[in-house]
Amino acid sequence: MIFILIFIFGLLLGSFLNVVIIRIPKEQSIAFPPSHCTSCNATLKWYHNIPVFSWLFLRGKCAFCKSKISMIYPIIEILSAALFTIVFYTSGLSLSSFFLASMFLILLALSVIDFKYKMVPDSLNLLALVLALAASQSFSLLITNFKNALIFAGGFTLLRFALSYLLTSSAKIKAKKRWTTWNKNYHTYPYVEALGEADIIVVSTIAAVLGVGLTLFAIFLSAVLALPVMLFFINKPVQDNKIPFIPFLATALLITYLFHLPIYHYLVGLYA
Ligand SMILES: [Zn+2]
Repeated sequence: MIFILIFIFGLLLGSFLNVVIIRIPKEQSIAFPPSHCTSCNATLKWYHNIPVFSWLFLRGKCAFCKSKISMIYPIIEILSAALFTIVFYTSGLSLSSFFLASMFLILLALSVIDFKYKMVPDSLNLLALVLALAASQSFSLLITNFKNALIFAGGFTLLRFALSYLLTSSAKIKAKKRWTTWNKNYHTYPYVEALGEADIIVVSTIAAVLGVGLTLFAIFLSAVLALPVMLFFINKPVQDNKIPFIPFLATALLITYLFHLPIYHYLVGLYA
Protein backbone atom coordinates (compact mmCIF):
# COMPACT_ATOMS: atom_id res chain seq x y z
CA MET A 1 0.00 0.00 0.00
CA ILE A 2 2.73 2.44 1.01
CA PHE A 3 4.45 1.80 -2.34
CA ILE A 4 1.28 2.83 -4.22
CA LEU A 5 1.42 6.17 -2.37
CA ILE A 6 5.14 6.49 -3.16
CA PHE A 7 4.38 5.72 -6.83
CA ILE A 8 1.68 8.43 -6.94
CA PHE A 9 4.05 10.87 -5.21
CA GLY A 10 6.66 10.01 -7.86
CA LEU A 11 4.10 10.73 -10.61
CA LEU A 12 3.41 14.18 -9.16
CA LEU A 13 7.12 14.96 -8.87
CA GLY A 14 7.56 13.74 -12.46
CA SER A 15 4.89 16.21 -13.54
CA PHE A 16 6.88 18.98 -11.81
CA LEU A 17 10.07 17.63 -13.40
CA ASN A 18 8.51 18.24 -16.85
CA VAL A 19 8.11 21.90 -15.93
CA VAL A 20 11.77 21.99 -14.79
CA ILE A 21 12.92 20.38 -18.07
CA ILE A 22 11.02 22.92 -20.20
CA ARG A 23 11.74 26.07 -18.20
CA ILE A 24 15.25 25.77 -16.69
CA PRO A 25 17.10 25.74 -20.07
CA LYS A 26 15.09 28.85 -21.07
CA GLU A 27 15.94 30.52 -17.73
CA GLN A 28 12.25 30.92 -16.86
CA SER A 29 10.79 30.71 -13.37
CA ILE A 30 9.63 27.21 -12.43
CA ALA A 31 6.86 28.57 -10.14
CA PHE A 32 5.28 31.25 -12.30
CA PRO A 33 3.32 31.46 -14.60
CA PRO A 34 1.15 28.35 -13.93
CA SER A 35 1.27 25.40 -16.38
CA HIS A 36 0.27 26.43 -19.87
CA CYS A 37 0.19 24.92 -23.35
CA THR A 38 3.51 25.55 -25.12
CA SER A 39 1.67 26.17 -28.44
CA CYS A 40 -1.34 28.36 -27.61
CA ASN A 41 -0.28 29.59 -24.12
CA ALA A 42 -3.72 28.75 -22.64
CA THR A 43 -3.47 28.18 -18.87
CA LEU A 44 -4.25 24.57 -18.07
CA LYS A 45 -7.12 23.58 -15.76
CA TRP A 46 -6.25 21.38 -12.77
CA TYR A 47 -7.80 18.35 -14.50
CA HIS A 48 -5.47 18.87 -17.48
CA ASN A 49 -2.55 18.50 -15.10
CA ILE A 50 -3.11 15.01 -13.70
CA PRO A 51 0.03 12.98 -14.42
CA VAL A 52 -0.29 10.41 -17.24
CA PHE A 53 -4.13 10.28 -17.05
CA SER A 54 -4.68 13.76 -18.51
CA TRP A 55 -2.40 12.91 -21.41
CA LEU A 56 -4.32 9.64 -22.03
CA PHE A 57 -7.70 11.35 -21.55
CA LEU A 58 -6.83 14.17 -23.96
CA ARG A 59 -5.26 11.58 -26.33
CA GLY A 60 -2.00 13.52 -26.38
CA LYS A 61 -3.58 16.76 -27.61
CA CYS A 62 -4.00 20.21 -26.05
CA ALA A 63 -7.59 20.68 -24.75
CA PHE A 64 -7.74 24.19 -26.26
CA CYS A 65 -5.81 24.26 -29.54
CA LYS A 66 -5.61 20.48 -30.21
CA SER A 67 -1.88 20.70 -30.95
CA LYS A 68 0.04 17.53 -30.22
CA ILE A 69 1.53 17.02 -26.74
CA SER A 70 4.73 15.00 -26.81
CA MET A 71 4.70 11.48 -25.41
CA ILE A 72 7.87 12.41 -23.48
CA TYR A 73 5.72 14.03 -20.71
CA PRO A 74 3.86 10.91 -19.55
CA ILE A 75 7.05 8.84 -20.07
CA ILE A 76 8.99 11.14 -17.69
CA GLU A 77 6.15 10.96 -15.16
CA ILE A 78 6.16 7.15 -15.24
CA LEU A 79 9.98 7.01 -15.07
CA SER A 80 9.96 9.36 -12.05
CA ALA A 81 7.35 7.24 -10.27
CA ALA A 82 9.32 4.07 -11.08
CA LEU A 83 12.59 5.59 -9.81
CA PHE A 84 10.97 6.73 -6.57
CA THR A 85 9.36 3.32 -5.95
CA ILE A 86 12.56 1.40 -6.79
CA VAL A 87 14.79 3.53 -4.53
CA PHE A 88 12.38 3.31 -1.57
CA TYR A 89 11.97 -0.41 -2.18
CA THR A 90 15.73 -1.12 -2.25
CA SER A 91 16.94 1.40 0.36
CA GLY A 92 14.00 1.36 2.78
CA LEU A 93 11.58 4.04 3.95
CA SER A 94 13.83 6.85 5.16
CA LEU A 95 14.73 10.48 4.59
CA SER A 96 17.99 9.26 3.05
CA SER A 97 16.02 7.30 0.42
CA PHE A 98 13.99 10.43 -0.32
CA PHE A 99 17.18 12.43 -1.03
CA LEU A 100 18.59 9.59 -3.13
CA ALA A 101 15.37 9.22 -5.15
CA SER A 102 15.27 13.00 -5.69
CA MET A 103 18.87 12.87 -6.91
CA PHE A 104 17.87 10.25 -9.50
CA LEU A 105 15.00 12.52 -10.61
CA ILE A 106 17.36 15.47 -11.06
CA LEU A 107 19.73 13.23 -13.06
CA LEU A 108 16.75 12.21 -15.22
CA ALA A 109 15.99 15.89 -15.88
CA LEU A 110 19.69 16.56 -16.63
CA SER A 111 19.78 13.61 -19.05
CA VAL A 112 16.74 14.86 -20.97
CA ILE A 113 18.04 18.47 -21.04
CA ASP A 114 21.51 17.31 -22.14
CA PHE A 115 19.91 15.20 -24.88
CA LYS A 116 17.43 17.86 -26.06
CA TYR A 117 19.40 21.09 -25.72
CA LYS A 118 23.04 19.82 -25.64
CA MET A 119 23.55 21.85 -22.47
CA VAL A 120 23.66 21.15 -18.74
CA PRO A 121 22.27 23.71 -16.24
CA ASP A 122 24.79 24.16 -13.39
CA SER A 123 21.98 24.72 -10.87
CA LEU A 124 20.52 21.22 -11.42
CA ASN A 125 23.96 19.63 -11.66
CA LEU A 126 24.99 21.01 -8.26
CA LEU A 127 21.59 20.14 -6.77
CA ALA A 128 22.15 16.48 -7.73
CA LEU A 129 25.53 16.51 -5.94
CA VAL A 130 24.03 18.14 -2.83
CA LEU A 131 21.18 15.57 -2.78
CA ALA A 132 23.68 12.71 -3.17
CA LEU A 133 25.61 14.00 -0.14
CA ALA A 134 22.40 14.65 1.82
CA ALA A 135 21.48 10.98 1.31
CA SER A 136 24.42 9.93 3.55
CA GLN A 137 23.10 7.89 6.45
CA SER A 138 25.41 9.33 9.12
CA PHE A 139 27.83 12.19 9.64
CA SER A 140 30.90 9.96 9.26
CA LEU A 141 29.44 8.55 6.02
CA LEU A 142 28.82 12.10 4.83
CA ILE A 143 32.54 12.85 5.30
CA THR A 144 33.49 9.64 3.45
CA ASN A 145 31.06 10.33 0.59
CA PHE A 146 32.29 13.93 0.31
CA LYS A 147 35.90 12.70 0.16
CA ASN A 148 34.97 10.24 -2.62
CA ALA A 149 33.24 13.04 -4.55
CA LEU A 150 36.38 15.21 -4.19
CA ILE A 151 38.69 12.39 -5.35
CA PHE A 152 36.76 12.02 -8.60
CA ALA A 153 36.24 15.75 -9.11
CA GLY A 154 40.01 16.27 -8.70
CA GLY A 155 41.06 13.21 -10.69
CA PHE A 156 38.84 14.05 -13.63
CA THR A 157 39.84 17.73 -13.63
CA LEU A 158 43.46 16.58 -13.93
CA LEU A 159 42.54 14.09 -16.67
CA ARG A 160 40.63 16.79 -18.54
CA PHE A 161 43.56 19.19 -18.25
CA ALA A 162 45.99 16.58 -19.60
CA LEU A 163 43.73 15.40 -22.45
CA SER A 164 42.84 18.94 -23.50
CA TYR A 165 46.58 19.75 -23.58
CA LEU A 166 47.33 16.73 -25.78
CA LEU A 167 44.40 17.39 -28.16
CA THR A 168 45.14 21.11 -28.36
CA SER A 169 48.83 20.59 -29.15
CA SER A 170 48.04 18.07 -31.89
CA ALA A 171 45.42 20.48 -33.30
CA LYS A 172 48.07 23.24 -33.26
CA ILE A 173 50.51 21.10 -35.25
CA LYS A 174 47.82 20.30 -37.83
CA ALA A 175 46.75 23.95 -38.02
CA LYS A 176 50.34 25.14 -38.55
CA LYS A 177 50.72 22.82 -41.55
CA ARG A 178 47.51 24.08 -43.09
CA TRP A 179 48.07 27.80 -42.65
CA THR A 180 49.37 29.95 -45.44
CA THR A 181 51.56 33.01 -44.84
CA TRP A 182 48.71 35.53 -45.00
CA ASN A 183 46.64 33.98 -42.21
CA LYS A 184 49.56 32.67 -40.13
CA ASN A 185 49.50 35.43 -37.55
CA TYR A 186 45.84 36.16 -37.87
CA HIS A 187 44.17 33.23 -36.11
CA THR A 188 44.43 32.34 -32.49
CA TYR A 189 45.31 28.72 -31.82
CA PRO A 190 42.41 26.27 -31.57
CA TYR A 191 41.59 24.97 -28.13
CA VAL A 192 40.12 21.48 -27.90
CA GLU A 193 38.21 20.57 -24.77
CA ALA A 194 38.43 16.88 -23.94
CA LEU A 195 35.80 16.39 -21.25
CA GLY A 196 32.78 18.47 -20.34
CA GLU A 197 32.99 20.30 -17.02
CA ALA A 198 29.40 19.17 -16.32
CA ASP A 199 30.36 15.51 -16.80
CA ILE A 200 32.99 15.88 -14.04
CA ILE A 201 30.36 17.09 -11.55
CA VAL A 202 28.06 14.17 -12.47
CA VAL A 203 30.98 11.75 -11.94
CA SER A 204 31.63 13.20 -8.48
CA THR A 205 27.90 12.87 -7.69
CA ILE A 206 28.18 9.19 -8.68
CA ALA A 207 31.24 8.84 -6.41
CA ALA A 208 29.30 10.32 -3.47
CA VAL A 209 26.69 7.57 -3.90
CA LEU A 210 28.78 4.55 -4.90
CA GLY A 211 32.28 4.97 -3.41
CA VAL A 212 35.56 4.63 -5.32
CA GLY A 213 35.48 1.02 -6.58
CA LEU A 214 31.90 0.96 -7.82
CA THR A 215 32.29 4.43 -9.39
CA LEU A 216 35.15 3.14 -11.54
CA PHE A 217 32.85 0.29 -12.58
CA ALA A 218 29.97 2.72 -13.32
CA ILE A 219 32.22 4.94 -15.49
CA PHE A 220 33.38 1.87 -17.41
CA LEU A 221 29.75 0.75 -17.79
CA SER A 222 28.71 4.20 -19.06
CA ALA A 223 31.39 3.98 -21.76
CA VAL A 224 30.19 0.49 -22.72
CA LEU A 225 26.60 1.79 -22.94
CA ALA A 226 27.68 4.78 -25.04
CA LEU A 227 29.84 2.75 -27.43
CA PRO A 228 27.07 1.54 -29.80
CA VAL A 229 25.69 5.11 -30.01
CA MET A 230 29.19 6.54 -30.67
CA LEU A 231 29.74 3.96 -33.43
CA PHE A 232 26.42 4.90 -35.00
CA PHE A 233 27.35 8.60 -35.09
CA ILE A 234 31.02 8.20 -36.03
CA ASN A 235 30.45 8.67 -39.78
CA LYS A 236 27.93 11.50 -39.39
CA PRO A 237 28.80 15.18 -40.05
CA VAL A 238 30.71 16.97 -37.29
CA GLN A 239 27.85 19.05 -35.86
CA ASP A 240 25.91 15.87 -35.06
CA ASN A 241 29.00 14.40 -33.44
CA LYS A 242 28.36 15.90 -30.01
CA ILE A 243 26.86 13.04 -28.07
CA PRO A 244 25.38 13.91 -24.68
CA PHE A 245 27.16 11.75 -22.11
CA ILE A 246 25.07 12.43 -19.00
CA PRO A 247 22.25 10.00 -19.99
CA PHE A 248 24.85 7.20 -20.08
CA LEU A 249 26.46 8.21 -16.77
CA ALA A 250 23.03 8.41 -15.09
CA THR A 251 21.94 5.02 -16.49
CA ALA A 252 25.22 3.43 -15.39
CA LEU A 253 24.73 4.87 -11.88
CA LEU A 254 21.21 3.44 -11.68
CA ILE A 255 22.32 -0.04 -12.85
CA THR A 256 25.34 -0.09 -10.51
CA TYR A 257 23.22 1.16 -7.59
CA LEU A 258 20.55 -1.53 -8.17
CA PHE A 259 23.03 -4.39 -8.62
CA HIS A 260 25.82 -3.14 -6.35
CA LEU A 261 26.03 -6.42 -4.36
CA PRO A 262 26.61 -8.83 -7.30
CA ILE A 263 28.88 -6.25 -8.99
CA TYR A 264 30.88 -5.78 -5.78
CA HIS A 265 31.28 -9.54 -5.31
CA TYR A 266 32.33 -9.90 -8.94
CA LEU A 267 34.95 -7.15 -8.59
CA VAL A 268 36.29 -8.61 -5.33
CA GLY A 269 36.42 -12.06 -6.97
CA LEU A 270 38.55 -10.67 -9.82
CA TYR A 271 41.36 -9.66 -7.47
CA ALA A 272 41.02 -12.38 -4.83
ZN1 LIG B 1 -2.73 24.60 -26.80
